Amino acid sequence: MTLLTFRFAPSPNGQLHLGHAYSALLNQRLAAAAGGRLLLRIEDIDITRCTPEFEAGVLHDLKWLGIGWEEPVRRQSEHFAQYRTVLDRLIAEELVYPAFMSRSEIRAFIAGSEKRGRDWPRDPDGVPLYPPVDKAVPVRERQRRIAENVPFAWRLDMDTAMARASGDLSWTEFTDETLSGTRQVEARPQDWGDVILARRDIPTSYHLAVVVDDALQGISHVVRGQDLFSATGVQRLLQDMLGLPQPGYFHHRLIPGPDGRKLSKSFGDTGLAALRQAGVSPDDVRRLVGIT
Ligand code: GLU
Repeated sequence: MTLLTFRFAPSPNGQLHLGHAYSALLNQRLAAAAGGRLLLRIEDIDITRCTPEFEAGVLHDLKWLGIGWEEPVRRQSEHFAQYRTVLDRLIAEELVYPAFMSRSEIRAFIAGSEKRGRDWPRDPDGVPLYPPVDKAVPVRERQRRIAENVPFAWRLDMDTAMARASGDLSWTEFTDETLSGTRQVEARPQDWGDVILARRDIPTSYHLAVVVDDALQGISHVVRGQDLFSATGVQRLLQDMLGLPQPGYFHHRLIPGPDGRKLSKSFGDTGLAALRQAGVSPDDVRRLVGIT
């Protein structure tokens, strides 16, 4: 029998807050209840925003909360060569293309199009979809620009990927915190358009690294915040393209901040370190997030 495997996968680009505490504690509780494994993955591919200091803070906060995990911890920044191999495959299969437009060029293109009376489509986060301009750039011109060090990102050719996808692009979503029931959710990766899968200097993106690592680490259950629910559609498509196994998912409720808004890493007062300094105990945190 294979053990159920859960993971908590924070990005060390700020301090952990109550929302992270809930996610980590829920994963721990579910892993323990199943007699399964809990892995910790440090998602630090953004080497400009992630720092060793934040990572040390994350590890300290988790230990203080009483979270235990298996060693070694997987740190994504140590595995760029692995992601590069997967990216090379996507390049060879012409599923990604180099996208050269700068932010201001994208803005100008969209403004021009909207001036002509056409509402430009936006992704579920409200960000305008990438214009289809660079898909039409001939191979030789692409090579010339890359050789001349024109900045670019590797973007998924969503239309091609969808056309090649196998029929069933759904995922299994658990319906409650105890994972007692499931439903199938239809993935809608097309709502995100041509997402970035890698940068010129960093051979991966959040989506690519997550699906590669979830497969590599044998993750059976991805338990994470509701804010990533629709992004799961893109990850489901990538699993299909790369022939990777599919975990089951549970997207849990988000812990609201004191003003009722979504927590962010810049809310000092719900940061675990600040709460600890104010005399809050790990048991108080459990009570605050409803994991007792
Ligand atoms: N690293 C992501 C974050 O901190 C979570 C990714 C995931 O759980 O799939 O928001």
